[in-house]
This record gives sequence, C-alpha cells and structure tokens, in this order.
Amino acid sequence: MGCSHASAARGVMSIFALVDCNNFYASCERVFNPRLEGKPIVVLSNNDGCVIARSNEAKKLGIPMGAPFFQWEKVCKQHKVNVFSSNYELYGDMSSRVMALLTEAWPDIEIYSIDEAFLLLDGCPENCVEFSLALRQKIKSCTGLPVSIGIAKTKTLAKIANFIAKNQTESGVFHLNDSNISILKTIPVEKIWGVGRRLAARLNDLKIFTAEELKNSDTKKLRKQFSVVMEKMIYELRGVSCLGLESVQPRKQIISSRSFGKLITSLSELEEAISHYAAIASEKLRSQHSLASGLVVFLQTNFFRKQDVQYQNSVCVPFPAATADTAYIIHIAKKCLQRLYRKGFRYHKTGIMLLNLIPDTVKQNDWLLPQSSARDTLMKTVDSINQEYGRNTVFYCAEGINPTWKIKSVFRSPRYTTRWNEILKVR
Ligand SMILES: [Mg+2]
Repeated sequence: MGCSHASAARGVMSIFALVDCNNFYASCERVFNPRLEGKPIVVLSNNDGCVIARSNEAKKLGIPMGAPFFQWEKVCKQHKVNVFSSNYELYGDMSSRVMALLTEAWPDIEIYSIDEAFLLLDGCPENCVEFSLALRQKIKSCTGLPVSIGIAKTKTLAKIANFIAKNQTESGVFHLNDSNISILKTIPVEKIWGVGRRLAARLNDLKIFTAEELKNSDTKKLRKQFSVVMEKMIYELRGVSCLGLESVQPRKQIISSRSFGKLITSLSELEEAISHYAAIASEKLRSQHSLASGLVVFLQTNFFRKQDVQYQNSVCVPFPAATADTAYIIHIAKKCLQRLYRKGFRYHKTGIMLLNLIPDTVKQNDWLLPQSSARDTLMKTVDSINQEYGRNTVFYCAEGINPTWKIKSVFRSPRYTTRWNEILKVR
C-alpha cells in the first residue's frame, strides 16, 4: 500500500470535517445588507476587472466565474445584479472571525483558504454530525455567515461530502460513510479535489468518468500512468487516509504589490505606492514574528497595452542585518525605486518582496541599522494601534495622504468591521 499516514498504518480510522463558507464574498456582503438576501450578487477582482465571486442567483443567470465585467455589465443591469468591488478588508476580517470560532471549538485544524478549514475530529466526544450541526449554528449566530460541513474518513472524501452538504441537504451537514458511499456514482471526476480540467479529460479517455469509477480503478496501473499523487487520491476515495492535517508554516517570503487604478508617470506617486506596499509587507513580517534579510522591488508598464512603449525592471538589495523596521524598509524600497525609474513610461504596477525571512528570535545587531528597543516598541505600538482602531489609523507620511494611485473599486461596500467611520448605521 502506498500510504504512509500514521493512522492508516495503524489501521485506526480518522474522521475529517471540511468546513466551507457558502459563496463567501457574497455572504459577507449580505451579513451587513440583508436586503441582498435572495438577490443576485457578483464581486469583482482588483480594479473591477473580472467576476471572482457569485451568489447562487448570479450563477443561475449564467454569469461565468472569471468573466470580464465589461462583457456582462449589460446583463447585470438588466437583471438588477448587485455588483461589488472586492472588499478584502471586510472578507479577511470575517474570515478570521470564522477561523477563531473553529479553533475555539476544535484544536486540530488546518486553515486551508480564506473560507475553508479542515478539522481532524478524532477523539471528538460527541457524535460528529451533532457536533457539526452545533458548530454551523454557532458560526451563523456569531458571524451571520452560512457554512456547509462535509464529514468523511479522508480529506478527499470530506471535500466531496461538503459539495453534497452544500447542494443536496437542508441541514448543511453531510456525513459520507459506508452506508451512502454509492453516492460517488453521481460525482463526476472533475469534482474531486485536485482533479483539474486537463486531468479529468485524461481520466475520461480511460473511461473513468465518476468518483466511483476512479475509486475502483487499478492503483498500480494509474500510478504508472499518472503519479503517486493519483494513487493516493484513489486510496483516499476508498476511505484510507493518506493526507493528514498540514500545519501552517510561516511564509518564506512576503510579496506586496498591486496594479494601479490608473497609469502613473511621476516618480513621486510611485514612491507613495511603494512606501505603502513596503509598510503592508513589514506589518505582515512582524505579525508572523519574522525578520527579512533583503528585498526586491519591481516596476512595470502594462503589457496588455500594445500601443505603449514597454519597460520592466527589478532590483534586489540585501540588508546589512535582518530587520522588520518599517521606516528602514520604506527607505530602502524608495532608493530601489529611484534606481529603477525611467522618465516617459506609463507605469501600471510596482511591488516589493521581502526575502530570506528568519525568526525574530535570532536577531543580530548591526550598527548600520536603526537599533534600539525604542524602535521595537515603536513598531509594536504602531501595529497595536492599527489592530485596535483599523488599518492605516497611523501610517507613514511617505505613503501619501490622499493617494491617487489606489486601485479602482467603484462598487466597494463599507469596511464595516475594521473602520470606525464605516461602521453600520442604524437609523
Ligand atoms: Mg466557499
């Protein structure tokens, strides 16, 4: 057998639950605007480019995922679709509330994405279905968000169980077990976790169309034709757990970059933007208790604008000693940008990447860097003020007071939970 997962080797059965928020972005908008209940909603990507999330009602209208908004603007008007720019501050905050509730309810957790988490329910004293129903109720009453929970012996089956919970149950909870496993007959292979469109086509060529057919396939043969990943997938479908919970590793690099809401030509505006991204990246760095040993700054024009003269360049600078000091990182990032900047181009995007991150416990002093416990205290104070009173309550002047380069988000809803001045008003 090709599986090494400890509990499978011991012959102990595991129980996984996948908790997934239903239409997460659209649901976040509904929590604060109940009038949207039952109405079609779409959420757009940065700069209002493409559709990145849809409510069920919008899906029914045939608006595809990833569709360029301008092509569907008419349809949206016609059917009174509620259109929103991405409000990542709101979605991120709602996500952390859901994850906090899950972590509180059960400690064995893997946060898989902004709106999904796996729980390993081994040793759960309650019946896992009842536990999940109560958990779902708790998330609904504390955050207003609807979630679906799929329960099964493996992560791959829990994903399928979640799909069934979401689409075929009233309760929002589905336990896929030996008594109802034949439901795999109704699941096309492309719905299986890790099977993309191309892999699905190759499986279809082998006359494997459903999850059940894949489950009953010859593991050795498919391992040869595909890989060990495929072999594990088949075992997982058979209820043999090959994939355990993965712990969250601190990131090895941090990127902060965005395209501008309009094309930019002046150095001073670019400096504001890079300072802002440097401040965001530095804050992320401190929140995971890391220091960076260097940075990369890049600058580019818009390659989709064929009529423009193109330019792109980047520069990498090592720090004399690892740091997480925002002022210092902004200072170096601006120097880099000044080196990259050429007059006469219309710039579309700039960004910063912090490199070679190390834990902040191994801090090494260097006389070239601003050093003192006072600077550390300053950073901690800035972070805690911004956590308490909302992002950018205090910020560096270098980031600009009234930036013109900010991404375009014409349809953004208020950031209800992270900005005091955008809090929900009751009349
Ligand atoms: Mg979801």
